[in-house]
Amino acid sequence: MTAKRIDGKAKAEQLATSITQQTAALLEEHGIKPGLAVVIIGEDPASQVYVRNKGRRAEACGFHSVQHSLPDDVAQQEVLALVDKLNHDDAIHGILVQLPLPGHLDEQSITQSISPQKDVDGFHFVNIGKLTAGHTDDAFVPCTPAGCMLMIEDELGSDLSGLNAVVIGRSNIVGKPMAALLLQRNATVTMTHSRTKDLPGVVRNADIVIAAVGRPDMVKADWIKPGAVIIDVGINRVDRQVDGEMKTKLTGDVDYDDVIETAGAVTPVPGGVGPMTITMLMFNTLRSARLSAGLEDQATA
Ligand code: NAD
Repeated sequence: MTAKRIDGKAKAEQLATSITQQTAALLEEHGIKPGLAVVIIGEDPASQVYVRNKGRRAEACGFHSVQHSLPDDVAQQEVLALVDKLNHDDAIHGILVQLPLPGHLDEQSITQSISPQKDVDGFHFVNIGKLTAGHTDDAFVPCTPAGCMLMIEDELGSDLSGLNAVVIGRSNIVGKPMAALLLQRNATVTMTHSRTKDLPGVVRNADIVIAAVGRPDMVKADWIKPGAVIIDVGINRVDRQVDGEMKTKLTGDVDYDDVIETAGAVTPVPGGVGPMTITMLMFNTLRSARLSAGLEDQATA
């Protein structure tokens, strides 16, 4: 049987509609407009695209959206001063500094200077600690794993008791928080990475596979347990022949066409995890706006 294609784009659209409605209600009932500030440093073209999309999505949700563009050679102190200003700005509920940063800047001290209450990327150690301890009620969960979790819940429900989940990749942005979320839902979680022995053998035990590596088409059909749910986080640019012409295409870490006959459900690339990630950023910002006003966290994904 052919696997279900998990439509992340459609799910993200649905979620964005709900966020837009909740934003309008927050403004009407409490006079609060969620504010998102994005800081971009330098001219990296991929980052420029990501930041532009975040700004557009924020505006479409009805948010107050600001972008701060700083030059490539900006001093560390200047970035910290801007973050400090935004930390104290009541119109701003979410702050993110687009990564990667130019080499002369200290990424960790900049990320950690964002107030945990406005850290809508979920990279602050306070939010990482809360997630790891299972206190997600007032923590910001990193957007990519949060979006992956919603798609997994759609397929398997919110209680993953008895299911084996294998996470491939141990980054702080995806792999580690993903494992924490799966554990919180009672899955039996195995973390794998570049030093794992017999990765295909480990993945073959998985009812749920999350691939977050950055290697095009690495996960093949003979790695997959029949019926498994596969979430492909990878975004890789590869050159492929299309109609006799070389074109750059986006592809994931999972060989989609290969696994489709074995898996139960798979996210495509593009159109899977990517659109969910940006929408979860909006969700976190709305949530932050509600929490900052002392309102109960009724924002729902
Ligand atoms: P990263 O480079 O920080 O981490 C990659 C991980 O893969 C490492 O833990 C490494 O140990 C592991 N790895 C490397 N080679 C391996 C191998 N041969 N076998 C097993 N594990 C191996 O990457 P990241 O930031 O977690 O991103 C991973 C991928 O996901 C990238 O393609 C990135 O572009 C993509 N990504 C997508 C989104 C999205 O919104 N869709 C968000 C974040 C990252």
